[in-house]
Amino acid sequence: MLMTTKRKIAGIFRGAPIHWVGDGFRVSNYFPSGNDLGQRVSPFILMDYAPPHRFPPTESHQRGVGPHPHRGFETVTLAFEGSVAHHDSAGNAGVIGPGDVQWMTAASGVLHKEYHEREFARTGGNFHMMQLWVNLPKIHKMDEPRYQALTAQQMGHVELPDNSGHVRVIAGEYDGAKGPAKTFTPISMLDIRLNAGGEIPLAFPPHENTMLLVMQGEVEVNGQKAKVLDLVLFENQGEEIRVRARQEAHLLLLSGEPIHEPVVQYGPFVMNSEQEIRQAMYDFNAGKFGHLAD
Ligand code: MN
Repeated sequence: MLMTTKRKIAGIFRGAPIHWVGDGFRVSNYFPSGNDLGQRVSPFILMDYAPPHRFPPTESHQRGVGPHPHRGFETVTLAFEGSVAHHDSAGNAGVIGPGDVQWMTAASGVLHKEYHEREFARTGGNFHMMQLWVNLPKIHKMDEPRYQALTAQQMGHVELPDNSGHVRVIAGEYDGAKGPAKTFTPISMLDIRLNAGGEIPLAFPPHENTMLLVMQGEVEVNGQKAKVLDLVLFENQGEEIRVRARQEAHLLLLSGEPIHEPVVQYGPFVMNSEQEIRQAMYDFNAGKFGHLAD
């Protein structure tokens, strides 16, 4: 019989105070600036969480962030409420709404811009998003850019027993349901909703870096209490995680195999060396990331 053990909790972290990215994204950074977690969260590099916020209607302009570059990693935007329009210099464009995920592989480099979708901006409403930066291994940092528009309908879906709640599988697999995201390294991304008293058993290999963000409600994670806006980071020991909701809860579970390579970040570039960062800045200034109008 295969024996597994419970995963211990390494720490519970809070995000940095809310700041604005452009005039459309009201976010709390959990890492790398909110908490210096370094390689403990690899392959994840950045977590900007935009908790639910009501935007009033506007006709004046589009709220968001104008054209800017990225190289060496992927940006993953999860829409829970509200709607975002995206364009990039590789020619990709799309709108994501509740339940959708946009998985952009910047790799060798793109310019992109992200705005509240025009009709959402016009009517206003609740806006609830997450943006993650996912690192790429050295051998893929200079690949051609790629774009995955993952719709709510494509997500894996698991109904938990005993009316506990349900799981949407964005990447990886849960209880036989697979997520649609293509990833360069093994990653699990689960959007979990639990009813009050509901429970979910989870298990990930101990060498993966695993974390759980509580977006709504209050839970017990392997017996320890975690409340709304807590990020629970697990130790690299043991496998089993059992989450029980003390009240209706909304959770994001991230797990991934770490990339054991040097990380050098400068603004929107994430490479393996200072030299590669200088090259990225040189290429950006030389117009090699393409062109994108405001
Ligand atoms: Mn960006």
